[in-house]
Amino acid sequence: MKIGVPKETIAGENRVAMTPESAAQLQKLGYDCLIQSKAGEAAGFSDADYEAAGVTVVKTAAALWKDADIIAKVREPSEAELKRLTKDKTLISFFNPGGNEAGLALAKEKGANVIAMEMVPRISRAQKMDALSSMANIAGYRAVIEAGNNFGRFFTGQVTAAGKVPPAKVLVVGAGVAGLAAIGTSTSLGAITYAFDVRPEVAEQVESMGAEFVYLDFDEEQQDGSASGGYASVSSPEFHAAQLAKFRELAPEMDIVITTALIPNREAPELWTADMVEAMKPGSVIVDLAAEKGGNCKLTKKDEKIVTKNGVTIIGYTDFPSRMATQASTLYANNIRHMMTDLTPEKDGKVNHDMDDDVIRGATVAYQGEITFPPPPPKIQ
Ligand code: NAD
Repeated sequence: MKIGVPKETIAGENRVAMTPESAAQLQKLGYDCLIQSKAGEAAGFSDADYEAAGVTVVKTAAALWKDADIIAKVREPSEAELKRLTKDKTLISFFNPGGNEAGLALAKEKGANVIAMEMVPRISRAQKMDALSSMANIAGYRAVIEAGNNFGRFFTGQVTAAGKVPPAKVLVVGAGVAGLAAIGTSTSLGAITYAFDVRPEVAEQVESMGAEFVYLDFDEEQQDGSASGGYASVSSPEFHAAQLAKFRELAPEMDIVITTALIPNREAPELWTADMVEAMKPGSVIVDLAAEKGGNCKLTKKDEKIVTKNGVTIIGYTDFPSRMATQASTLYANNIRHMMTDLTPEKDGKVNHDMDDDVIRGATVAYQGEITFPPPPPKIQ
C-alpha cells in the first residue's frame, strides 16, 4: 500500500507528517511512501531529502490524495480534502472530532476510515503515538523561550563585575504535559520557578524538577481538583476564589507567568484577571498557552502579542509547535510511524485496522461508513 503526505493547507502551518527518517521506517513496514512536492520545505526537509530516503515526490495535492491508500497529515482536514477521500482510503490526522460534526458526516458519506490523533488513548502502551503530549511538550518549552525573548533580563541570577543581577521569578499555572515542560525549561535556565495545579498529585513532580509548588489556604480535601484519567475537574467557586486570592498575592512578584490550565471539552478557566496584570511590574511577560480555548488570562488576544499600558507583554500565540517545525515534525512523524506499526502487525505493507485493539479503536472516529466517535472506554489502563 502507499502512504502519502500532502502539504498542509492552513496558512502559517509549517509542520509536515512525514520526515525522511520516518519514511525509512515506514518503508521497513512494507509501505511505499509519497510526499507532495515542497510539503516538508517549511520544516527544513527538501524534496531531494525525501527522494534520497526513497520517497516518491508527487507534484500536486490532487495526485497525492488519489494515489495514496493512507493519507497522513497534521491539521484537521478541510472540506475539500475530505471530499478527496474514498471508501478504500484511511486518513490519519488531528481531526477535532468533538467539534467537527460536518467532517465526521463527510467521512461517513465517503466510507473512509479516519484515525484522529488527539483520540489516542492515554494509556502506557500508546505513549509513543500520543501526539497531544509530543506537541504540548514543545509548546511548554517554546512558551518559556518566547517569554525569555520578550523579557529584558536574565533568567538566572548573576554576580558580575558590572553588578548583581537577581534571578527571574516564573510562575507556571497548570502542571500537565505543557506545564511540566515549561517548568523544566524555566528551572534549567536558572529562574526561581513556582507552579500551581488543582491536582495535588503533581506537587511531587513539580518539586522534583526544582520548582516550588504553590499551596492554597484551603481545606485539604476540597483542594483536590482531579477528575478521571488524570485530568482536572471544574473548581468550586470557593476554591476558585482562594486560587485567585493567592495569584493576586503573587502577581507583583512574578516576572514571567506561563498559563496552561485546561479542563477537557471546556473553555479555559479564567485565572489571571485584569487587576493581576495591572499589579505586575513593567517588563513582565505572560504567555497564555490556553489562548486557543479562550485564554487563562482575561486580557489575552488569541494569536497576538500585546503590551498593556503598564508595560506587561501578553503573548497568545497558538502555533508554538509550528514555530519549531523541524522538531515538531520529527516527533509528530514518529507518532504517526508508531501508529502505522500498530496498524501493520505483519510488516507486509497492508493496514490491519483491528477494531478490537483498544488504541486503534479509541482513535478511530469513522470506519467503513459509520461514525465511531465517541469510542467506548479502553479496557486496559
Ligand atoms: P491539560 O492540557 O488538559 O491541562 C493542563 C493542566 O491544567 C492540567 O494539569 C490540569 O490539572 C490543569 N488545570 C485545570 N484547571 C486548572 C486550574 N483552575 N488551575 C490550575 N491548573 C488547572 O492536561 P494534559 O497536559 O493533557 O495532562 C493531563 C493529565 O494527563 C496529566 O496528569 C498527565 O500526566 C496525564 N497524561 C497521561 C498520559 C499517559 O499516561 N500516556 C499522557 C499524557 C498525559
